[in-house]
Amino acid sequence: MTLVVKIGGAAGNAVAPVLADLAGRSGAVLVHGGSEEVDRLGEALGVPSKYYTSPSGATSRYTDPARREVVLLALTGRVNPRIVAELHRLGARPVGLSGLDGPLLMGPRKEGARSVVDGKILRVKDDWSGTVARVDDRLLRLLLDHGYTPVVSPPAITPEGEVINVDSDRAAAAVAGALGAEALLLLTNVPGLLRDVADPSSRVARIPKAEIEGYLPVAGGRMRKKLVAAQEALAKGVGRVVIASSAVDRPIARALDGEGTVIE
Ligand code: ADP
Repeated sequence: MTLVVKIGGAAGNAVAPVLADLAGRSGAVLVHGGSEEVDRLGEALGVPSKYYTSPSGATSRYTDPARREVVLLALTGRVNPRIVAELHRLGARPVGLSGLDGPLLMGPRKEGARSVVDGKILRVKDDWSGTVARVDDRLLRLLLDHGYTPVVSPPAITPEGEVINVDSDRAAAAVAGALGAEALLLLTNVPGLLRDVADPSSRVARIPKAEIEGYLPVAGGRMRKKLVAAQEALAKGVGRVVIASSAVDRPIARALDGEGTVIE
């Protein structure tokens, strides 16, 4: 079974149980972000993170060239090697890759992003972010077929060779789609999509594919990206997407058992 697991990088995520559950599995690709580490490093380097909200309500990281450098440093210099070292300690054979290797993740820079500031819609200038349009699935299969565990993170690259930041949930969806994965697990700091974000018991247990749109208004901030990622993965033939908690014992097994929000 080909499985793609994405772990969140925001505060409240628990990486250790995910890695412990992943280490013994074959056929799994791990995708990660690292927003908390990017924020921390940016603060330390005097380039604090900035976010903007699009007219549709989605929150995105603003990535000018200085902040892009921070993303690159934090993900490929800190978060990825830490995960790789830990998986190695757990007996797996991890291979750390960013979207630039291969290149594994390629796509266009985002054109014409808009942000809402004080009720006004403004154009976002000098932003180096984009989307993944092509995944080098051959590179991943080469590793999977030989028992390695690919550990993948943004950034991605444009066909012109420019480094772009990409959303890691949507990158995971593109990876799962390219591999025709049976399941994509989006493990995060909440137990799933919540009807009321302040109430962990308000989890939506199941969303049929055709009803995803109807749930977009419920999902605020970055949760919306996960629903968009789920939509993209299912459209590419992924069997099911589960949004579930990373901070539990055996989070992968639990998510595969349907403990979370199952979208199919
Ligand atoms: P990660 O780094 O794990 O990908 P994010 O911070 O990107 O996590 O996304 C998860 C966050 O989305 C939650 O911590 C929560 O604050 C926010 N969120 C907004 N609306 C919802 C909702 N309806 N249900 C669950 N989480 C929500």
